[in-house]
Amino acid sequence: MTRSVTVAGWTISLLALDALHAPLRWVYPDAGEDEIAWLPCHALLCRRGAEVMLVDTGLGVFHDAFDMEVRLVTLDDGLAAASCSSDEVTTVVLTHFDADHAGGIVVGEYPDGLAPALPSARVVALETTADLGEDADRIVATLRRAGVRVDRVADGGEIVPGVRLGSAPGHRAGHACLDFTDGTERFVFLADVVHAREHVAHPEWDFLHDSDPELGLATRRAFLQELGGSGATVACSHVDGFGRIEPGPEWVDV
Ligand SMILES: [Zn+2]
Repeated sequence: MTRSVTVAGWTISLLALDALHAPLRWVYPDAGEDEIAWLPCHALLCRRGAEVMLVDTGLGVFHDAFDMEVRLVTLDDGLAAASCSSDEVTTVVLTHFDADHAGGIVVGEYPDGLAPALPSARVVALETTADLGEDADRIVATLRRAGVRVDRVADGGEIVPGVRLGSAPGHRAGHACLDFTDGTERFVFLADVVHAREHVAHPEWDFLHDSDPELGLATRRAFLQELGGSGATVACSHVDGFGRIEPGPEWVDV
């Protein structure tokens, strides 16, 4: 079932896309070596009047990027579950260029028979001069070859009125979060700042996925500190459901 919230003038839905049958240690460092659990990968569908903004796109053509069992859901099916068709999407935001976030923006045969999945949508990502790393460079090159034009937005820049893209480095160079406000209410999409509810109380557990763990932890703590007690509604790419950060910090479901 699609979960949605209405906040800051937007109706925001978590789209359940792919899931990875991943070692539990990815989330809990003390888990047993053989313990495996499903890690969900979400996109976010945000509607405000005629504006339909999609944040991240699932594995898509990079469905074999992870050496594990994967439950695949196409972007079209994910959108359909939220009663949306791909030609309604006006803007796509890619929080970063990991396979499970950016792969669905192209369709067709990898590597040379690809085309944009949402040809009429504007595609946006954070502007950065940092070295993205080999994997992200390969994905950026694939998108370029497929004819996906990515509009770069500066740190803190507005994507559409009331929605800003902000740098959240450490997980990856160029990793970004979104901050929605209408002056009264606020919603923050934390993307991969944390990978589980428990990482809010234990930010030091979430080091495994960071390309720069020290910077990732500093970013994680800064976001959680700032959001703690703010009343903002939050969501994350790999957490099933919406929440709020209470001082502590602690995740509370909403
Ligand atoms: Zn991720």
